[in-house]
Amino acid sequence: MKRFKVQTRSRTDFINIDRQVAELVADTGLREGVITVFIPHTTAGVTINENADPDVTADMKLVLDRAVPWTGGYSHLEGNTAAHVKASMMGSSAQVIVSDGKLQLGTWQSLYFCEFDGPRTREVWVKGISEG
Ligand code: ZN
Repeated sequence: MKRFKVQTRSRTDFINIDRQVAELVADTGLREGVITVFIPHTTAGVTINENADPDVTADMKLVLDRAVPWTGGYSHLEGNTAAHVKASMMGSSAQVIVSDGKLQLGTWQSLYFCEFDGPRTREVWVKGISEG
């Protein structure tokens, strides 16, 4: 397993991690197979979505904030229930096919680290499985 760090910049932050993941895949020498990108945190997640128009991730943040407000009479004493809920909505892992040593993402797709209780220094774990 390989890992790298991500420094998030605000409470809610979507960070494109294509370059770091592609570099790890190159380091492993994986040519054909699949990788899992796993986020080992309870208030952050990962998703694959559009990279062309930054308004898409901005709108995703807006919609998530509308759906899950920061305050709302929650019970969790740490005060970050909204971040836990949004992390589960995005999910803690994503899979990407690797072919010819390259991530097989669609033209407009990128991997985004999704911060919901930042800013913090976070980790991303990556594990590749060879097709054989
Ligand atoms: Zn908490």
